Amino acid sequence: MKQLARQARADGLSPGFVPTMGALHEGHLSLVRAAQAECRPVVASIFVNPSQFGPGEDFQKYPRTLESDRKKLEDAGVDYLFAPEAAEMYPPGFRTWVTVEGLSDRLEGRARPGHFRGVLTVVLKLLEIVQPQKAFFGRKDAQQARLIQQMTRDLHLDSEIVVCPIVRELDGLAQSSRNKYLSPGEHRAAAVLYRALDATRTAIARGERDALRLTAAMREIIRKEPMAELDYVELVDAATLEPVTRLRGTCLAMLAARFGATRLIDNLLIEERAGEFHATL
Ligand code: AMP
Repeated sequence: MKQLARQARADGLSPGFVPTMGALHEGHLSLVRAAQAECRPVVASIFVNPSQFGPGEDFQKYPRTLESDRKKLEDAGVDYLFAPEAAEMYPPGFRTWVTVEGLSDRLEGRARPGHFRGVLTVVLKLLEIVQPQKAFFGRKDAQQARLIQQMTRDLHLDSEIVVCPIVRELDGLAQSSRNKYLSPGEHRAAAVLYRALDATRTAIARGERDALRLTAAMREIIRKEPMAELDYVELVDAATLEPVTRLRGTCLAMLAARFGATRLIDNLLIEERAGEFHATL
């Protein structure tokens, strides 16, 4: 992979990169299409990164569907698939870890200690191996994308980080490899996350600017769904990830909830333009 990357750069190409953990769905494929629109060649990776799973999380049972993933990427016209083994990525004696201070401690970082240390370390390694001009990430994992942008800036990496929109199912549920774990009933119930965010979008369009009222309304909607066990709902500044009291600049409404054994996250992007707030699901 490193040889290919060096050659692509020597040939004056602008490689694009889509890192994934596999079990590919439309969300992943939308990143592939975004990469193809701007880059050649396009490299996708599939690596279920052990270091970003905590003890008791779903590393063992995470869906692994390499053959059908390979077919999807081929059909989509991806040029290279990089699918390393854990022993290649973390050989014996591995000791170097990347952390972004502060931004890693909140929200998902608080719920999943060590998660972002694993994510950032593997993303830095993958960027070093693939050497893309641009790397494509989904806004579904908004905190992850923010941390990767920070790491890229802080470490002077050569890759530009492109954040792409959330792809949703028909009922609004954000596509996720973990949706495969949901029973039909849990799947129906999980659409409550979308409805809560959509209610926030409507309230903002009607002029609501108070973060406490917006988050209280989301909490109330999710509380009414008996299968949902809410972890957090927060309205935060998109750059600092610190809670805001009133909407200003670019904010994110972030939430996480459990449906049975499955933990799902989702968010709403709220942008201020010329004094108006625009919310994007
Ligand atoms: P994963 O395989 O879950 O690690 O995700 C790989 C990449 O796909 C990450 O950048 C995710 O943010 C992105 N992604 C996952 N689900 C979606 C979605 N529903 N819409 C857009 N991007 C997504």
